[in-house]
Amino acid sequence: MRGRFAPSPTGPLHFGSIVAAVASYLDAKAAGGEWLVRMEDLDPPREQPGAADVILRTLEAFGLEWDGPVLYQSQRGEAYAAALDRLARDGLVFACACTRKEVAEGRYPGTCRNGVPPGREARAWRVRVDGAAVAFEDRARGRVHQDLSREVGDFVLRRADGLFAYQLAVVVDDAAQGITDVVRGADLLDSTPRQIYLQRLLGFRRLRYSHVPVATNAAGEKLSKQTGAPPVDPASAGPTLCEVLRFLGFDPPEGLEMAGPRDVLAWARARWDISSIVKKEACAVLGASEQDECHVTEKR
Ligand code: GLU
Repeated sequence: MRGRFAPSPTGPLHFGSIVAAVASYLDAKAAGGEWLVRMEDLDPPREQPGAADVILRTLEAFGLEWDGPVLYQSQRGEAYAAALDRLARDGLVFACACTRKEVAEGRYPGTCRNGVPPGREARAWRVRVDGAAVAFEDRARGRVHQDLSREVGDFVLRRADGLFAYQLAVVVDDAAQGITDVVRGADLLDSTPRQIYLQRLLGFRRLRYSHVPVATNAAGEKLSKQTGAPPVDPASAGPTLCEVLRFLGFDPPEGLEMAGPRDVLAWARARWDISSIVKKEACAVLGASEQDECHVTEKR
């Protein structure tokens, strides 16, 4: 069993990102597995200089020790290009000239699928999505399914600015790092069917997924740099970890706050059971109605 935490260095870690870090760490460690860290520095315009190091120091201060070297996506261009080439050789990708604005909402309408319209320059690459219904069993929330061709359509693997898309990079790296279990925030639930689809096309092993609740602010917005979430304070790791555990549905005993972060993590590790993590709002996040089956209807 091997898990991972894959932060994007767009700023320091906030409460929501620590939730994903702690949940993935506990899940791997409770099973006697390994926990890796991958820095998703794939999109320089969105990144903040120095944030990657701040994130790693914060993880250390929280007692979240990773196994093996940190993998940096900024150094993985060749691997992503090789995966894209493989798909291209199999006739599974096509060049696309559509601007983001032209296909901003909903499903990709297939504009460049059979060739770029005359006079347009194709700079992005999309993967063909044909009749792909994807279903998987989320360990934290049960069955999830999405009809990719109806709801998403052909999606971007390499952007017009030359950067590789998150969906491709994450699939290539999860395979290269031998990850078996992905535990992350439910805001990424709508990406998972696309990732499973790419794993299939590339012949990679299928992973197990668990999507944990997403922390929101008082206005109900996901905590993020954009919504002004404050960074977590490494000096109060114990109390913050207890708050994370309460958020995940645990009931840490009084006084555990005062223990060091390693002791708090050891307490939780002994009690970890991902299937008991509140399934609450994942379906609400995605606008689904059924209780025991989450149907993904949006994409990011
Ligand atoms: N880098 C992504 C983020 O910070 C997480 C990717 C993942 O866990 O698959 O939102």
